[in-house]
Amino acid sequence: MRTRNTFVLTVLSLAAAVIAVAGAAQQAPTVRPADLVLRGGKIVTLDAAKPEVQALATRNGAIVALGTNAEIARYVGPATQVVELRGRLAIPGFIEGHAHFFGIGELKIQLDLMATKSWDQIVSMVANAVEKAKPGQWIIGRGWHQEKWSSTPQPSVEGFPTHASLDKVSPNNPVVLTHASGHASFVNAKAMELNGVTAATKSPEGGEILHDKDGNPTGLLRERASRLIDTKKGTPQLTPAEAADLERRVLEFADREVISKGITSLQDAGSSFSLIDRVKEMIDLGRMNVRLWMMLRETDPKRLAETRVVGYGNNKLTVRAIKITGDGALGSRGAWLLEPYSDSPQSVGLPTTPVAQMRVVAQTAVDTGYQLCIHAIGDRANREVLNVFEEAFKKNAKNGKDMRWRVEHAQHINAADIPRFGQLGVIAAMQGVHCTSDAPWVTPRLGAQRAEEGAYVWQKLMKSGAVVTNGTDAPVEDVDPIASFYATVTRKAANGEVFYGDQKMSRLEALRSYTINNAFAAFEEDIKGTLSLGKLADITVLTKDIMTIPDDDIRTAKVAYTIIGGKIAYRMPVAPAGAK
Ligand SMILES: [Zn+2]
Repeated sequence: MRTRNTFVLTVLSLAAAVIAVAGAAQQAPTVRPADLVLRGGKIVTLDAAKPEVQALATRNGAIVALGTNAEIARYVGPATQVVELRGRLAIPGFIEGHAHFFGIGELKIQLDLMATKSWDQIVSMVANAVEKAKPGQWIIGRGWHQEKWSSTPQPSVEGFPTHASLDKVSPNNPVVLTHASGHASFVNAKAMELNGVTAATKSPEGGEILHDKDGNPTGLLRERASRLIDTKKGTPQLTPAEAADLERRVLEFADREVISKGITSLQDAGSSFSLIDRVKEMIDLGRMNVRLWMMLRETDPKRLAETRVVGYGNNKLTVRAIKITGDGALGSRGAWLLEPYSDSPQSVGLPTTPVAQMRVVAQTAVDTGYQLCIHAIGDRANREVLNVFEEAFKKNAKNGKDMRWRVEHAQHINAADIPRFGQLGVIAAMQGVHCTSDAPWVTPRLGAQRAEEGAYVWQKLMKSGAVVTNGTDAPVEDVDPIASFYATVTRKAANGEVFYGDQKMSRLEALRSYTINNAFAAFEEDIKGTLSLGKLADITVLTKDIMTIPDDDIRTAKVAYTIIGGKIAYRMPVAPAGAK
């Protein structure tokens, strides 16, 4: 990637030099004015030809000039919009490498449980929601995590509450509360009743209905068992027009949220064909700002072929990747391990897609020209996925480096498998912020040796030659790239402990992981990821220089502007008085 970019850039800068010389000979000819000029700042381009400039100019959505304030001055015409950076930092727009776009929007219309600190607090939020709800209306929430609770609920089974506590405040409204990881949910009696879940219901393959000692479901549904709950049951169906309108609103909420966090492109980790159609409609209506690269959670070859699209709507949407899930999450002990959990010796977690099925999907991906992205957290899941990828490359005589297949999360890897990422050209699609939020339970679950050897081993992976990307898995975490950048360069958990600091990234590595590496992982490095001549003018301006300020100040940086295709999509509402 690097070699190729450098080559392109060299050609471009030579061309620019020739033009500059010709220009000087003709007494600085007037140039066509830019649409937008940024000046007076520190612009980190990640482009080897001009790593740092003071100013840049954009026209028709692309970058047309980079240089000193003086060099860019001639691009300012009467109609040019000028952003005075006043010393602030501008960087290539953040590319979120793995998030769930629709889920980000949904969180805005559901109970947001991300900040809850106890089960009692959650129950009282549900009680509040019930008061405002119509009779029988579903109460839907998301974001709870038992590791954040100050005490264990009473009574409890495996540390989780029982549904009686919810039934008390919501006897008639069905309730479903999704775990922060998305890998479990908690429901009340009404929700189970409407969906026919009883003591006799068997756990589905790849999932578990948690039971109490009498054999009754507790309300906790792990992994695929969550799919037993359909929130359409028992409520009057929305008309198709109402359902479509709700989807549009959710997409707009998501768009607003991500651009306010400085994100110019987002890689969506798995949507349906029908959602892709809705997104296209929103793009056609001009109601979407962020650029989306969306993985499909569906695998029908014919529909994949029909849906494949690159750069739809002026580079707003690309669909050419399939997403499947290899295992669950570590916190809920759903991650599939080679050896048992250190704190649960009878369990090795579980695969959520049989390996044979992964092979079938891998062949579909090759046949339809899609990238394949498989979620793998545990070391067993990572090994199986690498095996599936390697077999598919071999069988189809493909060089893995041309395929750019991705392991989503790549969180816990056996030492023997780490070099395989680089060797096979497999992308480690990771999330910096998961490292610091999961840190408190990684060592209990895995033991110190496995944690040190293979947990979030960014440096080891990069040394293997692998491309490591970055993101947040929102709404599992907040979609804020600054928080994930901070986690990436410090590996410092909320309790102040640093989780194996030798694996942290430098500021420059972290910025690359959030920009050009994500672009590469989507075959988009020719149009995104650096501020280079001819690339899309996708730029994030921050209030503080996260490349140089002390570690502990990074999280105080705010997004001043999010610029997409040379247009200001978001600007910080009011400059706070006395802002530094
Ligand atoms: Zn995800």
